[in-house]
Amino acid sequence: PIPKVAIVGRPNVGKSSLFNWLAGRRLAIVDDFEGVTRDRMTTLIRDEDEDYAFELIDTGGLGIDDPDDLTADVRHQIELAINSADVILLVVDVQTGLMPLDEMVAERLRGLDRPVILVANKSDQPHQDNLASEFHRFGRGIMITVSTTQNRNRSDLLELIVERL
Ligand code: GDP
Ligand code: MG
Repeated sequence: PIPKVAIVGRPNVGKSSLFNWLAGRRLAIVDDFEGVTRDRMTTLIRDEDEDYAFELIDTGGLGIDDPDDLTADVRHQIELAINSADVILLVVDVQTGLMPLDEMVAERLRGLDRPVILVANKSDQPHQDNLASEFHRFGRGIMITVSTTQNRNRSDLLELIVERL
């Protein structure tokens, strides 16, 4: 079976952007307004040379009845991740910094027996990398700073994922 990698995190941290960036094409809807992703987004990531393949899942905004109920969205993401993922990408936003909902997501992942990679997104410039330090404890030691818009650290992130499949 093809291993599954689930992207989780509070709204607007860049989950759908990360999904599209890793997929190399625009599949998920990226929007400035929170809670916009409506469909289950799944795609196959494959690299012939490196000989790996995994299914990537954007869990954000799935099946929310009430788009204002962010807690329900996050709960649903975690449920999906727990039910399907071999590796979890916990996405945070270094520009807004740590928010209570980030704490909630991390808390819900804490007991899980699956690798969790902390993806500190929106580190658009190298000097912003140190902003990620406040999220350190979420990562269980595995953390990477990226920028989906500035194309920073994509291959390093892929390497971290593939090592854990
Ligand atoms: P989601 O709700 O977690 O799926 O987040 P989206 O992928 O829809 O992105 C939310 C907003 O963050 C959009 O306006 C994106 O353009 C923006 N965004 C995503 N990645 C980056 C990044 O690396 N740097 C910056 N500056 N903005 C980003
Ligand atoms: Mg989204």
